[in-house]
Amino acid sequence: MLDCGHNPSPHSEISTGIAHSLDGRRLCYDCAFQEEVRQYKQENRMIAYLSDDGRRITNWPGYTISAQVFILNESRDNFGGERIYLRFVFDDSIWSGFAMGRGMYLRAKRTKLIGLYA
Ligand SMILES: [Zn+2]
Repeated sequence: MLDCGHNPSPHSEISTGIAHSLDGRRLCYDCAFQEEVRQYKQENRMIAYLSDDGRRITNWPGYTISAQVFILNESRDNFGGERIYLRFVFDDSIWSGFAMGRGMYLRAKRTKLIGLYA
């Protein structure tokens, strides 16, 4: 039994089904996701992941944070690094940030924009 009162989440051979909170509690994936969402809303910023198809923002291990994603620009630098500038809808706000590629992590902040495309 974990600290959230649940059993470890279903998992694969390479993962444990257990997430660790910043203060060291052991949580199932559902509770960890709820906690992350609370944190994003409080801090108005997040580190998350862009799905492989570029259409969803997810956490690890794959819970959907937003399915309304607008990619503004994708660029590649001379070293093969990639940056994808994007916006998405979360918590009734438009968030803006960039990912290091599809299927890669991203950093985003809440904005005062009123539309994804504005
Ligand atoms: Zn739990």
